[in-house]
Amino acid sequence: MKVAHIAAEMAPIAKVGGLGDVVGSLSRALKKQKVDTFVILPKYKIINTQCIKNLKIIKNDLKIFEKNKWQNNKVFQGYVKNVKVYLIDPEKHYFNRDKIYGYKDDVARFLYFCKCALEFLKSNIKDIDVLHLHDWHTAFMAPYYKEIYSKEEHLNIKSIVLSIHNLGYQGQCMAKQLEDIDVNPKLFLHSKKLGHPKKPKTINLLKGGLIYSDAIIPVSPTYAKEILTKKHGHQLSPMLKKFPKNKIKGILNGIDYKTWNPKKDKSLAQNYSSTSSIETILKAKELNKEKLRKYLNLKDKNVPIIASIGRLAEQKAPKLIKHAILKSLKKNAQFVLLGTPFSKEISHTFHKLKRDLKNNRNVSINFKYDECLCHMIYAACDFIIVPSIFEPCGLTQIIGFRYGALPIVRKTGGLADTVFDLQNPKIPKNKKNGFTFKNVSIEELDKTLNRAIKFWYEKQEKFQTQIKKNMKINHCWQKSIKKYIAIYKRLIK
Ligand code: ADP
Repeated sequence: MKVAHIAAEMAPIAKVGGLGDVVGSLSRALKKQKVDTFVILPKYKIINTQCIKNLKIIKNDLKIFEKNKWQNNKVFQGYVKNVKVYLIDPEKHYFNRDKIYGYKDDVARFLYFCKCALEFLKSNIKDIDVLHLHDWHTAFMAPYYKEIYSKEEHLNIKSIVLSIHNLGYQGQCMAKQLEDIDVNPKLFLHSKKLGHPKKPKTINLLKGGLIYSDAIIPVSPTYAKEILTKKHGHQLSPMLKKFPKNKIKGILNGIDYKTWNPKKDKSLAQNYSSTSSIETILKAKELNKEKLRKYLNLKDKNVPIIASIGRLAEQKAPKLIKHAILKSLKKNAQFVLLGTPFSKEISHTFHKLKRDLKNNRNVSINFKYDECLCHMIYAACDFIIVPSIFEPCGLTQIIGFRYGALPIVRKTGGLADTVFDLQNPKIPKNKKNGFTFKNVSIEELDKTLNRAIKFWYEKQEKFQTQIKKNMKINHCWQKSIKKYIAIYKRLIK
């Protein structure tokens, strides 16, 4: 079985958030199960080539007709932790930039990438069992293949799968933009295809992927249900509800146990593992706290550390995160934020907060993407807070488990599938692992944060046993990968 993953991110070579983690670890997990798999990505300027083995050019002349001109592209091949990757490198200035996304021409860049990937598959691979696409960036390949490439010779794709890491980003654009890659927009403009039901000249690339794929995989079972509701369906729920029942199947993400391993993590002051004694784990966490506090200039004192790591986008409930920071300080806890603001308004709010708190050595607010600091935080913190409005899967709470931190989350998407309240008598004892609240509400967040901090101060022994228990929760890919393979097999039989 040959499976081609096409994506905008892959950890550790090109990552912004969870999409990168999942493409990297899912492809590795498939490889371990002896599935013949490879990944195609753009060759960004910022790609971490140190993590790619045997990188070489395998094609010098991938010609693409775009904007009435032939554009040349190189294709590189290499191996990322044993997984074969192909990197598309256009001569054109599409990926030779400082960031992965966030440009006005993102739609043009990824439409171009879709075309390059299909042309490359056509010229070099030819037969594929499963084309596995991820999010809006590559979703257009599904309609593009089924309406155009499948009618030509030389490329034979048996089935198409689309993973939804986030339904909120859809790649909406004017239909005319398809002309840039030499595609007739009329082919797709109908509202039963990519067309917007109310805006006649607009198309939606993610919608195209959803319609033309043979299977859709949201990244958690709860998210698979939520996208069928008006609240979380981002205007697409009426259509999704009409799909055959077995077309959408939520599968919970795993994490890469080699990348996220406190036993071997090089960023830590002291390594530790779930098999160490509680005393050893606590001692190690203490040393990791000391290192983090020194590094971030936080006061060295015996108080809990609460952390938030992630993109500061609307979806992540920045208002609640801001409230959690102020509340934690009032309740004698320290707070560490590592996040990149995703809008001007959010950026303004958090920069102001940082200025207001600049003399407070119980809080550290950091606006950058920093792999090493993020590992240090997981190892040092007592709590990871994720109050998101919606969260397709969420990885920070899962990584938190592995590093001995207790999650404080809102029950939505993958957070609802992974975190179970320690103080809810209805939950079986062996499932309990964190603190949860139901609604996007400052009051509910407040109460939950209070409960968590109180637990740390008043039930320290229970807190310590819970850390060790959480470290043993199994979120490696082994369970989920079998579900992916079952879908692939069903589609190609
Ligand atoms: P999303 O996919 O919405 O961005 P997830 O929780 O699924 O959120 O995944 C976030 C991933 O990105 C985690 O691996 C987290 O550790 C990492 N991450 C997020 N922000 C940063 C940052 N500023 N620096 C380093 N790593 C980050």
